[in-house]
Amino acid sequence: MVKERTYYDRLGVNPECTEDELKKAYRKMAIKYHPDKNQGEGKAAAEEKFKEISEAYEVLSDPEKRKMYDQHGSEGLKEGGFHATSAEDLFSSFFGSMGGGMGGFDFGSATADGMGGFTFGGMGGGMGGGRRAKQHKGENIEHEMYRTLEELYNGKNVKIAINRDEVCKTCRGSGSNKPGVSSTCGKCKGSGSVFMAKQMGPGMIQQMQTKCPDCNGTGDKISEADKCSTCKGKKLVPGKKIVQFLVEKGTRDGERIMLKGEGSEYPNAPSGDVIITIKEKPHATFKRRGNDLVLQKRIKLLDSIAGTSFTIPTLDNRKLWVTVNKGENIKQGDMRIIEGEGMPIKGSAKKGHLAVIFDIEYPSLSSEDIKKLEGILPKSAAPTVSKTDCKPVNLVKGSYSQQPRPQQHQAYDDDYEQNFRGHNFGNAAQAQQCQQQ
Ligand SMILES: [Zn+2]
Ligand SMILES: [Zn+2]
Repeated sequence: MVKERTYYDRLGVNPECTEDELKKAYRKMAIKYHPDKNQGEGKAAAEEKFKEISEAYEVLSDPEKRKMYDQHGSEGLKEGGFHATSAEDLFSSFFGSMGGGMGGFDFGSATADGMGGFTFGGMGGGMGGGRRAKQHKGENIEHEMYRTLEELYNGKNVKIAINRDEVCKTCRGSGSNKPGVSSTCGKCKGSGSVFMAKQMGPGMIQQMQTKCPDCNGTGDKISEADKCSTCKGKKLVPGKKIVQFLVEKGTRDGERIMLKGEGSEYPNAPSGDVIITIKEKPHATFKRRGNDLVLQKRIKLLDSIAGTSFTIPTLDNRKLWVTVNKGENIKQGDMRIIEGEGMPIKGSAKKGHLAVIFDIEYPSLSSEDIKKLEGILPKSAAPTVSKTDCKPVNLVKGSYSQQPRPQQHQAYDDDYEQNFRGHNFGNAAQAQQCQQQ
């Protein structure tokens, strides 16, 4: 009986499965969910899935970790100091090692002899010829950037300088001052990673794969005298690159733009990517809801009854002329839609709607004017019971007892949501006409 099945379920295998079955399951799923193969709508979900199966495979493919997991579950692993390797690294080492024709993903098992704290040298020895177990790639660079609503409406060409690592030009990425000199790191035997064993309890040892500290994961170690003077043997130097890209019309807050191969360089390997996350700056006039824009408009009480006109400046510098018809009797919080004046919809020529939410401003009137109004406007009927039969109470300004009143902006959101649900945008105008006829 195993304590937990989650990792097995993620790979779609039984807890009794063989290592071979595990490998097959991981291979199939890793290819299916690899981020390079999932760029469209399901990208985020695929990335998450890719991470999950990688973590599961990393544990289950290691006999010691698997035993630990079967007996103590993921909590036991956590206590043992297990941290999942990056999914991408696991993927490259898996396919890199398979390609190398060695069953290289067998981590070789540590025997539990009760002596914690020693380091295993390299991947099972026998790896002559400096074969790389790890396939490198330059680092990705993530960047967050605020853009105005105008820019997201009209589209914007952006140019930025990216600080990234570049291959040292002096040594062309060898790290050595002598052409062709580059020696394999003795500690990791060129694999770039070592296994640390950690004592967890009596008779329990946890193995962890970590970046080789001697060569910093490169697999090469160059003697002090042979190091390139420009990069000090690191093969990479800090550099800067100007990149240009288009923030498309209709881009939303949180959307990511991927600039493939514009990230850090790496010797004899593909460069990383630059990933830009677009954030939307708050706007003074409009609030954005997906493809729609929302505008709060204050009009006077008389305007709501007698009608009025006003203008709305658009995000592309046009002006809309808006008319409130006489007798429309707009009430506080009412919403009206202006079709096709919202945000551009990415990948189409259409735009969302502009929603106008009205705020009614009441006048302060003299008692004389109030008297005049009482002569014109209908009044509610007086109560039919006698006041003496009732308990007179006062109306005071205040808020709900105990449960605090929702924040102002939240109340606004909720109203909006309700209005949105209540209205059928396409037919709102028609419905209105029908009522008036
Ligand atoms: Zn090393
Ligand atoms: Zn150099």
